[in-house]
Amino acid sequence: MKLIEGKPIAEIVYAECLQSFEKLKAAGHLPGLAVVLVGEDPASQAYVGSKERKCQELGMHSVKIEKPADTTQEELHAVIDELNADEAIHGILVQLPLPDHLDEDQVILRIDPAKDVDGLHPVNIGKLAMDDPTGFAPCTPSGCQRMLIESGIETSGKDVVIVGRSLLVGKSLALLMMGKRKGGNATVTVAHSRTKNLAELTRRADILVAAIGIPHFIGKEHVKPGAVVIDVGINRIDDPTAKKGSRLVGDVDFDAVAETCEAITPVPGGVGRMTIAMLMANTIRACELRAGLAD
Ligand code: NDP
Repeated sequence: MKLIEGKPIAEIVYAECLQSFEKLKAAGHLPGLAVVLVGEDPASQAYVGSKERKCQELGMHSVKIEKPADTTQEELHAVIDELNADEAIHGILVQLPLPDHLDEDQVILRIDPAKDVDGLHPVNIGKLAMDDPTGFAPCTPSGCQRMLIESGIETSGKDVVIVGRSLLVGKSLALLMMGKRKGGNATVTVAHSRTKNLAELTRRADILVAAIGIPHFIGKEHVKPGAVVIDVGINRIDDPTAKKGSRLVGDVDFDAVAETCEAITPVPGGVGRMTIAMLMANTIRACELRAGLAD
């Protein structure tokens, strides 16, 4: 069994980012990312912190905007409008989920699609569906695809089953993998909570992707021997033996599935590592596109 780890593949993406960054700098452009955080959710604070650190490591311009949990829709729209107009900002990311009283769809719609480096604006989802390379694909699905490409796993003509149909992960990954670009051309099936005979379906997969949000949901019975398994899930479970009393696990029962599959991503240390890397890559490309320096 081969372990597909996120770190070395993320490093490849960062090396590319640095190369593009140097070219941009030489031409007088500095990529800038703004991250907007509403409320005090500790997990969101941690994600925003790591995005900011990574920007700093790469030498990018980064802005963190923190708003209280009772921020109104209008106030949040005003923040986005300001960032849309800010020449120093090429990418805007609003950390999700937002507090319940805020309408996430309206917030995403407010972002200039050319700065929507999270790839969730309908213009970018449309471009993804149209195989238009000027759009931005959502970061987690493009990270999954990049892991397959860098691991030398052929996707063309392969049966891919994705469990989970969120726009953030499952549905967007389906568009990427059925697309005509590198890491695509697969025959994709998307399963969800209404799917019948799930294990029968997932056992047909050459490449199985789990994006469900239920710890250890995918067991040995779901996986064809020799399949490649990508575990997107990040779930915190109680573990009295762990220092913090809890630990992170994926949607796949790693120990059981690792016995039978050809390759698998670990949690933590797998797909999660790729999400921030793809965010940086999207931000740098947003800067290249605006500067007219994109390939
Ligand atoms: P959502 O809750 O938005 O979607 C979960 C999907 O799983 C839904 O489509 C749901 O079906 C499906 N599902 C739920 N129960 C079942 C079931 N019993 N059988 C089959 N399908 C089921 O989650 P996300 O897509 O946002 O995230 C999925 C996982 O990925 C989470 O663990 C999340 O933490 C993780 N994640 C990781 C990231 C990373 O960087 N690695 C980034 C984003 C998410 P239905 O639509 O019918 O409800």
